[in-house]
Amino acid sequence: MLRALYWSKLEVILLRVLNLRGPVFCRPEIVSVIVVVPIGITRTHTMPKVRRSTKPPPEGWDLIEPTLEELDKKMREAEAEPHEGKRKVEALWPIFKLHHQKSRFIYDLYYKRQAISKDLFDYCIKEKIADQNLVAKWKKSGFENLCCLRCIQTRDTNFGTNCICRVPKTKMQDERVIQCIHCGCKGCSG
Ligand SMILES: [Zn+2]
Ligand SMILES: [Zn+2]
Repeated sequence: MLRALYWSKLEVILLRVLNLRGPVFCRPEIVSVIVVVPIGITRTHTMPKVRRSTKPPPEGWDLIEPTLEELDKKMREAEAEPHEGKRKVEALWPIFKLHHQKSRFIYDLYYKRQAISKDLFDYCIKEKIADQNLVAKWKKSGFENLCCLRCIQTRDTNFGTNCICRVPKTKMQDERVIQCIHCGCKGCSG
């Protein structure tokens, strides 16, 4: 039933954080599955290395590389961060946040500031530096600030609806502070 396995960077990282080794399935929303897979399950698949292609990156790469490296460094720190005492989901929040930030950085440079070429943008998508599926959502009205793909997975919530963080603040009944359990988002619906 599940085919065309591949590893996205986010999935690989989430697995590392959860001490899991196993196949992850092709759709990004499957990230949610990882979180519910009990720790300790191992599978025979080996994890392919995530690496950039040998093709030299397009012009302008030099300008974005330091920021990307900085975010990668933060990601490694977030992965290494001991998470005893934290709920398992909470340990993943910084990972989701950094994943968002990295894609957002590329997205803003291309769509908002027109500061990088299409070549470079496409390269970042192809190399999975920016999350293609997340970026695709940001182009849609009402999803401009979407935190992560899990929060629009209706089957992930108790109520069969989008995550609470997708509810516009104006529509909330009271003034309670919302924070989703998936990625820690405090509201991304405007
Ligand atoms: Zn959100
Ligand atoms: Zn989210």
